[in-house]
Amino acid sequence: MFTRFSKPKPASGRANYLAVRSAISKLRADGYLSSVPVDPEKIAEDLGIEVVFANFDDSVADDISGFIDFEVTNDNDSKFKAQIVVNSETSVRRQLFTIAHELGHFLMHRDWAESENYVVLPRSNNYFESSKPAEEIEADAFAADLLVPLSELEKVYKHYDLVELADLFMVSEEVISYRIKALKRYLSAY
Ligand SMILES: [Zn+2]
Repeated sequence: MFTRFSKPKPASGRANYLAVRSAISKLRADGYLSSVPVDPEKIAEDLGIEVVFANFDDSVADDISGFIDFEVTNDNDSKFKAQIVVNSETSVRRQLFTIAHELGHFLMHRDWAESENYVVLPRSNNYFESSKPAEEIEADAFAADLLVPLSELEKVYKHYDLVELADLFMVSEEVISYRIKALKRYLSAY
């Protein structure tokens, strides 16, 4: 199954969280967020993206978690070929976050990724740094939202500590803390 995803344009280089929410809600509708841990590799493969684990060159291995590569092809039905390349020397949880992040680029930034302006964006080391390009902030927000759906977090967050929650969702404690804050904001707003 392949759903066509539209890409709302970010306003003036600022992160567009509506685009994140829209991409997530389509995956939710397809049933991918209904149990945890969410498997981003399975989603990528269902969308026709190849996921490859590789040893990176020593000069970049410490700095780059992964990237997504697009190739526009004219020789068959599919207009594009996409490949997510993951640094296999990072932790399993980081690899999952990387796949989810690159999946975010695929779903939200494909026009840009297929354009001539596209440069392969390496995934570097800080998740929630505000100085990053809008696309990076959006892809990180997408990854956190995908791996830790608030609906699932709400069911369990009072019963476990941070370490246990991180284990349950297969993310870092940093990501869990970020999502618990988001959940509390959400709950206090409704
Ligand atoms: Zn990125």
